[in-house]
Amino acid sequence: MTSAPTHDPILIVHGGAWAIPADAAAAHQSGVRNALETGYRILALGGSALDAVEAAVTVLEDDPTFDAGRGSFLTSDGRVQLDALLMDGGRMKAGGVACVERLRNPIQAARLVLEKSPHVYFVGPGAEQFAASHGMPLIDNADLVLPRERERLLDAQARQSAGLADETFSGQLADDKDPSTAFKIDSEKKLGAPGPSHLGTGESKHRLSNDVPDPKSTEDPGQNWWDSKTPPPNFDSHDTVGAIALDGHGNLAAATSTGGTLNKTPGRVGDSSLIGCGCYADNLAAAVSLTGWGEPIMKLVLGKWATDRVAAGSAPEIAAREAISYLYNRLGGHGGIILLGPDGRFGLAHNTPAMAWGLATPSGLQTGLSV
Ligand code: ASP
Repeated sequence: MTSAPTHDPILIVHGGAWAIPADAAAAHQSGVRNALETGYRILALGGSALDAVEAAVTVLEDDPTFDAGRGSFLTSDGRVQLDALLMDGGRMKAGGVACVERLRNPIQAARLVLEKSPHVYFVGPGAEQFAASHGMPLIDNADLVLPRERERLLDAQARQSAGLADETFSGQLADDKDPSTAFKIDSEKKLGAPGPSHLGTGESKHRLSNDVPDPKSTEDPGQNWWDSKTPPPNFDSHDTVGAIALDGHGNLAAATSTGGTLNKTPGRVGDSSLIGCGCYADNLAAAVSLTGWGEPIMKLVLGKWATDRVAAGSAPEIAAREAISYLYNRLGGHGGIILLGPDGRFGLAHNTPAMAWGLATPSGLQTGLSV
């Protein structure tokens, strides 16, 4: 369906949520600005939201500042493994790739999956072969590896061998697998014991989804690092990139691309490329891209959670903050979100010390390192 433009186009990008050090601040700001310029040029000329988010994320993948494309974090065996997803909220089409090692721009492979395949998601060598069969060059994995990342991996592995906990993105919870809302099973009881009592009772010490305080509130002991007396958790670099857009015709699109987490086990896939987790778009709801500790984000299907709230009437600004509160309160997770509704209202939120972001509207471009 074609129509004359009816909306002011909007493009929002992020370059990861973590404790961006001062000496990396300028590179993050200029990286998101370059992505905005490229993506917004497409929107300003009447192009689609899908083309704009793909172009913006391609720029971010090509920029070694970010944990996407060349310069990504390394797996525990020293390789780059990339995940990316793209979604068109008008056609409700999605394309994703995961664990690809030989593609310079996985977001472009995701676009090929979206356009040229009846399937939605390809992984590993199958994804690479699919992309190659549609003209994408296959490169050597070493071309994606930076010496900076080799050093960062060695450092992480040394910390691990020294028994230091990896607190990347985690709060005060030891991990996200025991938020203490499970009903305890009495191991003495035999399977098949009568009645519901074999499930026992459990006490929730974490709030559930309906109770979502301010993300920066210090009411929860796990959030104390927001006050200056408590040292923050170790927010190691997490520079996943993402873009969301509304085009002049009213279509929404979203894209997210990542090298994943530092020292990840080969084959691990995070939230970024999973539909409804790190990325989602639906013209009837909203477009979203997330960054942060992937395991809790994917268990909460947080992207869809946030877009559902917008569809139900929440302002994106509120829904974005609620999503980050929910991530923390339910599973102790840290991260950031960009969220855009079909009427052009948007929300950005993070509970990490910083998140690189950029916003382009007809009034101009803005970038920042925290919200
Ligand atoms: N969410 C990404 C992952 O877990 C990491 C990030 O956002 O930086 O793979």
